[in-house]
Amino acid sequence: MKQWEVVIGIETHAQLLTQSKIFSGSSIAFGAQPNTQASAVDIALPGVLPVLNKGAVECAIRFGLAVGGQVAPKSVFARKNYFYPDLPKGYQISQYELPVVVGGKLAIQLGQGETLTEKTINLTRAHLEEDAGKSLHEDFHGKSGIDLNRAGTPLLEIVTEPDMRSSAEAVAYAKALHALARWIGICDGNMQEGSFRCDANVSVRPLGQKEFGTRREIKNLNSFRFMQQAIDYEVQWQIATIEDGGRIEQATVLFDPETGETRAMRSKEDAHDYRYFPDPDLLPLIIDRDWIERSRAAMPELPGAKRDRFVAEYALSVYDATTLTASLDVANYFEATVAAAGKASAKLCANWVSVDLAARLNKEGRETGESPVSAAQLGGLVARIADNTLSNNIAKKVFEALWNGEGQSADEIIEKQGLRQITDSGAIETLIDAVLAANAAMVAEFRAGKEKAFNALVGQAMKATKGKANPQQVNELLRRKLG
Ligand code: ADP
Ligand code: MG
Repeated sequence: MKQWEVVIGIETHAQLLTQSKIFSGSSIAFGAQPNTQASAVDIALPGVLPVLNKGAVECAIRFGLAVGGQVAPKSVFARKNYFYPDLPKGYQISQYELPVVVGGKLAIQLGQGETLTEKTINLTRAHLEEDAGKSLHEDFHGKSGIDLNRAGTPLLEIVTEPDMRSSAEAVAYAKALHALARWIGICDGNMQEGSFRCDANVSVRPLGQKEFGTRREIKNLNSFRFMQQAIDYEVQWQIATIEDGGRIEQATVLFDPETGETRAMRSKEDAHDYRYFPDPDLLPLIIDRDWIERSRAAMPELPGAKRDRFVAEYALSVYDATTLTASLDVANYFEATVAAAGKASAKLCANWVSVDLAARLNKEGRETGESPVSAAQLGGLVARIADNTLSNNIAKKVFEALWNGEGQSADEIIEKQGLRQITDSGAIETLIDAVLAANAAMVAEFRAGKEKAFNALVGQAMKATKGKANPQQVNELLRRKLG
């Protein structure tokens, strides 16, 4: 049987976090009553003129800088002409020959833990454009409705080279891009609301063949899971079609989450079908050096740089540092925790943030920014583990108490609930003597060679102090006494 190679290129539409539309002052807030946010400019009534939103350009510049692309000193808006009910003006303002960002790269992470590897995906371009309206096919008594609120919403379309070789790589890319767009504050990344949608161009070729196969484009994937399912289905469909003696026709397809299948929607248009031409109502977009440098100065430290710094500054593993730089919120939370706990406890902070806190947040479906335990509080807790005031087990109780608002700080909860770890070896010795006296049968079992009995004795000692005795000291002293 022939071996096949999968080739994928991705186009993403990221809705930009501006206040108003790309060419008018209308609001872009989600969820308004239909057709209450579409101005004369958005639907291009005769005689109106578009005015470019500077905030949208600022977002494009930030993106270009973040991916190391070239921010074009001059780019041009073009009309992409087509008919569709949700586009009453008959054209979409986009950029074509001269986009605002050229090139750039994005690193993606594959696998995890010890097997974590990195791959670089090359970007072709990113351009500014306006969104179209929406056709609504539900709740209209058998008719369809048109909502033009979305018309004119600012988008950055980001296009990759055909560099991905599996659905896993495609999803890793989409996740990395999603995280970056949120990190630099250009997109809220809300996929349910359509703020971040991907089209996956998929083709297959016999392994070793140089030319690409014919691609089909899966439109509007609005979840990472759907992206994975859609590509996997599409790939096996293309291979089966070719192996059955068929040919792949270039097409635009839709993914149906109900059936898990992709279905051809229309044969694919080529660029010349759109009759692109420069929009006569808009001047070329000129971005000078000063503007770029001002934007550069205002950029946050980027994920890759932060990850490398976490490894160097806090002696974390690459895996830990990658987990902690999954979002800017998590990274900031981690650093604030370390600031409160002390740098020597950085690894302990990393564990608490990426394991205990993450699990607790996950359980309640909350984001890091919504944690009831602040970084300063968690840092205070970690400091008490580091200085032996708390055992790990009791620390978990204190964390839960902080989560439930039972105190302002770990110290307050430790005092109020008497949770201080018992480390006084005199006190532990007295305790162990009592435990040994009360459990003569277990002692005999241990002496007869049952190692299990030893653990039972440790358990008795811990129980007698409600878990507050230092477990290591209990172990050592008990061994000595029995030994
Ligand atoms: P459009 O879809 O607007 O016609 P392009 O032709 O530039 O735009 O391609 C769009 C996307 O398709 C890009 O991400 C590109 O990498 C990808 N692509 C192009 N050819 C192939 C192919 N044979 N297989 C998979 N992806 C491809
Ligand atoms: Mg396309």
